[in-house]
Amino acid sequence: MIKSVKTKLGNEIELVGDPMGKVLVIGVFHGDEPQGKYLIERYLSPSSKSKISVLPQGEDMTRLAQNLRHRMTREEVILWQNIRGKQIENAKFRRQQKIGKYICDFVCFEKKLIIELDGSQHNEKRGIEADKLRDEFLKSQGFRILRFWNNDINNNLSGVLEKIQETLCPPLVGGPEFTIPRRGLLFIPCLNPDGMAQNTRTNANGVDLNRNFPTKNWQLSEKNNYFGGETPASEIETRFVIDIIQEFKPELILTLHTPYKIVNYDGDAKEIAQKISEIINYPIESDIGYPTPGSFGTYCGIERNIPTVTLELDEECPIEDLIKPVHKIFDTLQI
Ligand SMILES: [Zn+2]
Repeated sequence: MIKSVKTKLGNEIELVGDPMGKVLVIGVFHGDEPQGKYLIERYLSPSSKSKISVLPQGEDMTRLAQNLRHRMTREEVILWQNIRGKQIENAKFRRQQKIGKYICDFVCFEKKLIIELDGSQHNEKRGIEADKLRDEFLKSQGFRILRFWNNDINNNLSGVLEKIQETLCPPLVGGPEFTIPRRGLLFIPCLNPDGMAQNTRTNANGVDLNRNFPTKNWQLSEKNNYFGGETPASEIETRFVIDIIQEFKPELILTLHTPYKIVNYDGDAKEIAQKISEIINYPIESDIGYPTPGSFGTYCGIERNIPTVTLELDEECPIEDLIKPVHKIFDTLQI
């Protein structure tokens, strides 16, 4: 995570991705349009469905160890239970694999990663010199080796699993939740977590964030679903975006909305809007048809000359069907 801020209801808005990125993608201006958050999170971490969870330990594990055909130590069983079946980054580990003349505790051949547990009987027999030769040979075969102590398994299993995940898939920034580096792209997966928590268009103050930007045409509006706030940039969400734009100076911005099935743009963004339109097969509209004082598009695209594309997704379309075109659009934006 690069930056974050806490909202009125105590939720967190996060900026993630490539800190050098010049393209900013923003999801969920409106709390009742959650699709953007899901699509961004799936893009950043395709395996986010299978979050790391630590399985129960104790008696069950000891019994399981005794029942296994090949005798494993208690710690080996615990680790095995947490890495088997492609649980971490879809990596298939096998246990007790022979490489050259060596038997390795756990191996993922696809990712060329070996995990060894030290402090188990069969390792203690080996000397430091023998270990060195062994590591040299395995490294010469292109393998990376992670070593943990039995104590690590017993006292800090989640740390061990995180280390394995990181090694399989190094994060560009932030914690293990975002694991795939996407160069050139910055993301705010959810700008309005309070609205999302309450399933409202507006934030916790009843403000439509897309009317709260300090544009020249901002005006005090009626207190309905499109209320632009008591003053321009009155909302913490709005100020968070403004700060990010000043600090990171994006050269292109994409925001994700529903439900109109159109590609809308402000400023010099016709070409990229065209590309997006072709990928997702929605028509382009350079003007949404009614004035939008205080809108983000006016603030960035018109008044600051930052090409800004608003993608209005099909609300009826199952989210799984949106993943492919929207992720292709993200790929296209990388500069
Ligand atoms: Zn919207």
